[in-house]
Amino acid sequence: MRYPVRNGCIAIGVLLISFGLYTSYNAENRLFELGYSTFLSQLNSGEIKSVTLTGNKIVALDKYNQEFQTYSPDVTALVPVFIDKKVVMTVRPAPSSSSGPGLSLVLFAGIMGYMIYARSQSKGGGDKMKGKNFMIPTDMSGKVMFSDVAGIDEAKDDLVETVQFLQDSSGFTRLRGKIPTGVLLQGPPGTGKTMLAKAIAGEAGVPFFSLSGSDFVEMYVGVGASRVRALFEEAKKQAPCIIFIDEIDAVGRSRSGSGGGAGGGDEREQTLNALLVEMDGFESDATVIIVAATNRPDVLDKALLRPGRFDRQITILPPDVKGREMILEVYGKHITLAPGVSLQAVAVSTPGFTGAELANLMNEAALLAAHNNKDYVELADIEESKDKILMGAERKGMVINEEEKKTTAYHEAGHAITAMLLPEADPVHKITIIPRGRAMGVTQQIPLDDKHSYSREYLLDRIKILLAGRTAEEIVFNRFTTGASNDLQVATSIATRMVCEWGMSQALGPRAYVAVDMGFLDGQSQRLAQSDDTGRLIDVEINKIIEDCLQEAMIILQGKEAALHSLAQHLLERETMNGDEVSKVLAEVV
Ligand code: ADP
Repeated sequence: MRYPVRNGCIAIGVLLISFGLYTSYNAENRLFELGYSTFLSQLNSGEIKSVTLTGNKIVALDKYNQEFQTYSPDVTALVPVFIDKKVVMTVRPAPSSSSGPGLSLVLFAGIMGYMIYARSQSKGGGDKMKGKNFMIPTDMSGKVMFSDVAGIDEAKDDLVETVQFLQDSSGFTRLRGKIPTGVLLQGPPGTGKTMLAKAIAGEAGVPFFSLSGSDFVEMYVGVGASRVRALFEEAKKQAPCIIFIDEIDAVGRSRSGSGGGAGGGDEREQTLNALLVEMDGFESDATVIIVAATNRPDVLDKALLRPGRFDRQITILPPDVKGREMILEVYGKHITLAPGVSLQAVAVSTPGFTGAELANLMNEAALLAAHNNKDYVELADIEESKDKILMGAERKGMVINEEEKKTTAYHEAGHAITAMLLPEADPVHKITIIPRGRAMGVTQQIPLDDKHSYSREYLLDRIKILLAGRTAEEIVFNRFTTGASNDLQVATSIATRMVCEWGMSQALGPRAYVAVDMGFLDGQSQRLAQSDDTGRLIDVEINKIIEDCLQEAMIILQGKEAALHSLAQHLLERETMNGDEVSKVLAEVV
């Protein structure tokens, strides 16, 4: 509720100031004329106190009370900057207009200023300023260099040429080669795309204009397109430089796809067209590189990927084990690590973590160690932080009755014993019956190597382990609880994907019955049209996988009742056990 109140006050402020200046301002026709770029740099450095906008003409008063005039190609695009720099605005009708200066225009300026301000505020977070200041290069005093970006050497290698090109383009154009202007960095969030773009600017020592695709798309049709033009014009003046457009998919979504039509669709289309026109219109002497980032390359308009536009595409995936170790070393240097902490072991136990998650892991561990009054960050702190990130924070205060605790202990013991006994399963890393996040208990398995593909046997074992929690409850208590709902969802989802996506059903053969989006965000798939018979067969096959796995889990656990009782007893006493401790207990009874 705080934001709306604050925005309301600002709206009134903008309106009142507009009224005040409007009545006291006396237009002067023959003023000193200042170049538009000089005006922009004065504006950016906060030297402009007030402006009166008349069509394309801007009459400005600077902090030395000097008045001058200049002409802007697009005054609307400057409104957010005026607001950001607290420049008092007055709007007058263009000279061609027959009516005199009307109150409605002043009101319009106030309301529009307010709406743009409120919108940029509502984007929230650390990006607040980014939306408004996109005409001003990011302050690169704390430069990011390639050496700060760890573990993604292939991507860096691909960009060395871009850096050389920014530093000196003559070698590239000597033989009349056309300058490559667009680089598209594609990969999941947090893999270091923004950091890499900054590092290109850092290495080349050039200005870095940064904005997000969503900054372009305002509620007014035409604002985004004019922003694109204004930004490119400014960038060309400051060339060589980099324009970084984060979340390019916000503006560059396929025009044939969803979201067309009125309002936002029109605005996005106009903005995208403006971007394409600007990219095509580069003169060969303007060394401006546009680096764009996205985690949805699959939805981008094909026109963006055509030669001459974003024709250099670099995919950045979460780092492999070596890459993770290198990133952990970078962040290990920022904190006080206890002697002998093996970051290699941490790297092994964090498959799938992105650079951002690893940075977060080390930071959380340092905070935890400080909270516990330690002098060093120990491996245990990193482990605890990892569990918090992976499984949610411990809910120590949650009151659980003994009966529930016992059920959870047997449920988790069922998962763990099955995982220990199946050949394709990942090793058990930890079991806990302390509630974490939304789970009452967790059995954590961590693969020995980074996995990029899964065999049918591995997936079947995974389903058996998932179903074994509920099976253990059934064997011991002869009843089920609701505690297995997430296990059932995951198991059914794997079985469905085996049949419909990975061609792992013998009856249906190697066919795909779903369309899966090829972006980097998981889980978006849609069933394709199919005949009723095929639909029925798909259901039969999914049921068969689940039933077979359930039976096998039952056979495994019925033979291991002593192990179930023993492990559940240990869990009830200790609440959390690691993989080695589980192995030891099972070695005694199995
Ligand atoms: P993206 O743009 O891909 O979403 P960012 O570049 O914004 O990711 O990364 C977020 C943060 O994660 C960075 O500021 C940095 O602290 C950390 N990070 C990500 N990847 C790396 C990496 N390869 N090396 C070092 N730090 C990284």
